[in-house]
Amino acid sequence: MKPTIFITRKLPDELVAPLKEKFTVRMWDSEEVAVTKAVLREEIAQVDALWTMLSDTIDRDMLESAANLKVISNLAVGFNNIDIEAAKEKGIIVTNTPDVLTETTADLAFGLLLATARRFNSAEKDLRQGGWLSWTPMGFTGMDIHGTTLGIIGMGRIGEAVARRAKGFNMHMLYHNRNRKLETEEKYDVEYVELDDLLKQADHVVILVPFTEETKEMIGERELSLMKKTATLISVSRGGIVDEVALYDALKNETIFAAGLDVFETEPIPLRHPLLTLPNITAVPHIGSASVETRRAMMKMNVEAITDVLEGREPKDQVNSLASAR
Ligand code: NAP
Repeated sequence: MKPTIFITRKLPDELVAPLKEKFTVRMWDSEEVAVTKAVLREEIAQVDALWTMLSDTIDRDMLESAANLKVISNLAVGFNNIDIEAAKEKGIIVTNTPDVLTETTADLAFGLLLATARRFNSAEKDLRQGGWLSWTPMGFTGMDIHGTTLGIIGMGRIGEAVARRAKGFNMHMLYHNRNRKLETEEKYDVEYVELDDLLKQADHVVILVPFTEETKEMIGERELSLMKKTATLISVSRGGIVDEVALYDALKNETIFAAGLDVFETEPIPLRHPLLTLPNITAVPHIGSASVETRRAMMKMNVEAITDVLEGREPKDQVNSLASAR
């Protein structure tokens, strides 16, 4: 009997083809609509490998039914949608897709920073609605990027890639990270500061930490109150790191200038969400790694990891070391 794989979203046939040559592959039949919990649970009980999206919640309860499951390969670098401890206890390897998405996600982060601080979306909306009646001296004036101070929270792979871009804009750079990164400080001319100091001093703040117990609501009312009235906040890592109620208040009361969000506590963000009523927010639907080349490269990594595990090899990019569990 060939091992069986379940893919939780419809993916391009040519990328799935290498798996089909060797294994039995079942795939959820929609690209837009997520797999139902019932189907996911049923598949987990049967399959040897699971290829997941970041929108799938694979918690302890979901993993209870796994009988033959050997690997879960997630189409993302973040893996907070999977209970990796529960997977480890069941001897299930979890893999992710780091590095290949770093530059593309940094492009989005920097683009979102530009769009937010310079008010691209309200300016465009106004133009489309016929509001451009004449050139106005102070119309749609935003905040400068070049020559200002950027604060990067989470100086990992994507944080560094954002720093490389900021250098080209002649920005002064501060960062906060769990561990100090002396090599990075030297290489990119970035200065380590405590979180509060970063929030007080930065003109623009970009959040690039993973979502964990420690980073959950890391930016709340108190933290937002430390930021400059002219500052922008960009969140590209995961929803739940910024307290959205506190962010709404800060934007509504204009105690910060604007926010650019690619990620939300609930995804998709409900259309009636209060944040979406504000003019000083630029919101995009979790598109950090969404370039054709990068998404294809990520999928190839998933294929490789699943094949490796099902053929008895150690996969690359394992996020839960099974050494102690085996
Ligand atoms: P990474 O290389 O692991 O970098 C994460 C950084 O965050 C590390 O430097 C880490 O510090 C730091 N960190 C972790 N916990 C912290 C804490 N409590 N306080 C301060 N710093 C902390 O990951 P990456 O590849 O840059 O990706 C970062 C995140 O971006 C991912 O986890 C994912 O959630 C998100 N992401 C989003 C998209 C999107 O589409 N929007 C795309 C890709 C990635 P240490 O050096 O101490 O480990």
